[in-house]
Amino acid sequence: MKKSVMCGNVQIGNAPISIQSMTNADSRDEKALLNQIFRLEEAGCDIVRMAVPDMESAEVLKKIKPRIHIPLVADIHFDYRLAIAAIEAGADKIRINPGNIGSAERVKAVVDAAKERNIPIRVGVNSGSLERDIVAKNGGVTAEGLAESALRNLELIEDMGYDNLVVSLKSSDVKMNYLAHKIVAAKTDHPIHIGITEAGTLRRGKVKSAVGIGALLLDGVGDTMRVSLTADPVEEVRYAKEILESIGIRTPKVNLVSCPTCGRTKVDLERLASEVDAKLQEIDVPEGLKVAVMGCVVNGPGEAKEADYGVAGGDGKGVIFAHGEILKTVKEEEIVDELIRIIEGK
Ligand code: SF4
Repeated sequence: MKKSVMCGNVQIGNAPISIQSMTNADSRDEKALLNQIFRLEEAGCDIVRMAVPDMESAEVLKKIKPRIHIPLVADIHFDYRLAIAAIEAGADKIRINPGNIGSAERVKAVVDAAKERNIPIRVGVNSGSLERDIVAKNGGVTAEGLAESALRNLELIEDMGYDNLVVSLKSSDVKMNYLAHKIVAAKTDHPIHIGITEAGTLRRGKVKSAVGIGALLLDGVGDTMRVSLTADPVEEVRYAKEILESIGIRTPKVNLVSCPTCGRTKVDLERLASEVDAKLQEIDVPEGLKVAVMGCVVNGPGEAKEADYGVAGGDGKGVIFAHGEILKTVKEEEIVDELIRIIEGK
């Protein structure tokens, strides 16, 4: 049976896949952090993480914790005292890489503090910081080595009598990331935090994340996720939601189907689809409403009929459908307003 943990009021494991992001405001700047976390909450972030690089940041964590509405995770590297301070400051979970915390005694001190408050520890290993003996044994940084490091560090903490754990193993190499997760998922029952680390800029990172995270989710691997982007963290939440919606794990507000257009298209479908998409975000619709905006009569009527509402373009005009029935034909310039009016039931 797969295990689960509670991060504040969010269950990880045997629960809907939660979306995480991480603040990039200065961890000593209380106001900037709060602003960023409120924006992340608004965007639909389930769990937020902040770096705690010094004691001043741990103090700030203590101040912001009672003012935010989603669980707060402290991200710690190198100094075990910071991990203990973050736990005492009220973190709902901590993320450490036991390999860079120092001795087993120091890891144990962190584990004892987490145990006292019964908060989960995320054991996070990264392809960029694998233990030397593992790299040497595998002849370099490999999926097998990444998995071995994650399992070794999990075992280290389990042997200290604590199994309130989440594991993450991250590589910026999508294939290595995938293979390493498959190994670990077969060998542990602990919840797994998935993501492609250092995935890059918005344009590149969202594709890498969609492929890397999507492949794992389709294989049933992953309990919580973060899309890592060199961008505003709110974008991470936006793309995480889109990944979950694309593979049917979450229901989108609107499922908009539109064709790629081709030489048969005789309406400005790119504009029509964008305008319909934007207007649908502004109005109240039943969750998961399917709307098709299609360029012509080849696939258009079929897709449009299968949708709740749809339009199939013609020569400077469009045929509007609702629930499989043709409603009317309108001029191109009237398509968007008419389709939206019909969807709104006006
Ligand atoms: Fe081309 Fe029509 Fe297919 Fe759109 S629906 S891609 S216009 S054939």
